Amino acid sequence: MSDLAELIDSLERTFPHAVTRTANLGELTTYRVGGSAAALIRVVDNETLDRMLAIVGGSEIPMLMVGRGSNLLVSDNGVALLAVQLGEFFTTVTVEGSSVVAGGAAKLPVVARTTVQHGLTGFEWAVGVPGSVGGAVRMNAGGHGAEMVDSVVAVDVVDFRTGHRTIRSAAELDFGYRRSNLASHELVVGCQLGLAADSDGQGRERIADIVRWRREHQPGGQNAGSVFANPDGDSAGRLIDQAGGRGMRIGSAEVSTKHANFIQVDDGGSADDVVELMIRIWELVRDVHLVDLRPETRLVGFDPSRFPWVS
Ligand SMILES: Cc1cc2nc3c(=O)[nH]c(=O)nc-3n(C[C@H](O)[C@H](O)[C@H](O)COP(=O)(O)OP(=O)(O)OC[C@H]3O[C@@H](n4cnc5c(N)ncnc54)[C@H](O)[C@@H]3O)c2cc1C
Repeated sequence: MSDLAELIDSLERTFPHAVTRTANLGELTTYRVGGSAAALIRVVDNETLDRMLAIVGGSEIPMLMVGRGSNLLVSDNGVALLAVQLGEFFTTVTVEGSSVVAGGAAKLPVVARTTVQHGLTGFEWAVGVPGSVGGAVRMNAGGHGAEMVDSVVAVDVVDFRTGHRTIRSAAELDFGYRRSNLASHELVVGCQLGLAADSDGQGRERIADIVRWRREHQPGGQNAGSVFANPDGDSAGRLIDQAGGRGMRIGSAEVSTKHANFIQVDDGGSADDVVELMIRIWELVRDVHLVDLRPETRLVGFDPSRFPWVS
């Protein structure tokens, strides 16, 4: 039996209610297409986390941390790994002075609104990003001229490979544009943000403006936000649009007519259609603009040899 199968058996014996075998991962993503993981474990509290770490810690099984699935596309064929998702316990947000401590599963829009209610500024941008704090740290999510690295002070991280839980400073995470050095076996359990007092008291207005801007410029439906990262000094949406990609369709997946860097997929559609469309767009932009785009969406369980981009 493989290490993965043995560990799933062991986790299931210890946490019979927290482990789901052949868990539908696609359902946990905002694309709402794609296949399943070998198993999913929901971490209900710190005690579960400690016991889980005692079982999994030190192994080299393939793992995937799942936040709100707003930046994930999972292969239709599924993927042989253990998926991990934090539960309600990890959604708390506490504010003391200008310091905000948020659980890894806290929703970004909730954190954004809470900070404004406490008279703080610097996190309003996150109101339009439908992810979790953990996913945002991993991705160094950002928008409207700000990103996580601007406010992250320290991050509580569990490393299932070493079996250790440590507090890491922002500098240790080596944040870059939509990236950090966190690996697939590292779970962000919580995060401390340092914000500033809102001296002009315009936080609520800034939140309302951002929400309005998002409604006007971004589509709803089944998507995962920006498909490609913006190249230096340019916008992936503009490049795709000018290359004629807007509205392009493959099977159940279509380049949004509202924002050319978004792909929308039909209800009951397929992740394979999304990836095929991504490849088609990538080739189009390279042919027309001589620019190699880099995917922003995390692709899980696909054969990387079919991708024209450097994974
Ligand atoms: C409509 C829409 C608008 C969006 N707008 C923006 C935007 O303006 N700016 C932007 O940056 N992004 C945007 N996104 C993308 C997405 O919301 C962000 O990347 C977000 O930070 C992902 O968080 P998540 O919890 O959904 O992570 P997931 O999609 O679940 O995961 C993303 C990555 O983070 C990892 N991960 C998730 N949770 C954890 C955790 N607790 N610990 C460690 N790793 C974890 C995953 O393994 C994966 O590698 C948008 C998405 C949508 C659907």
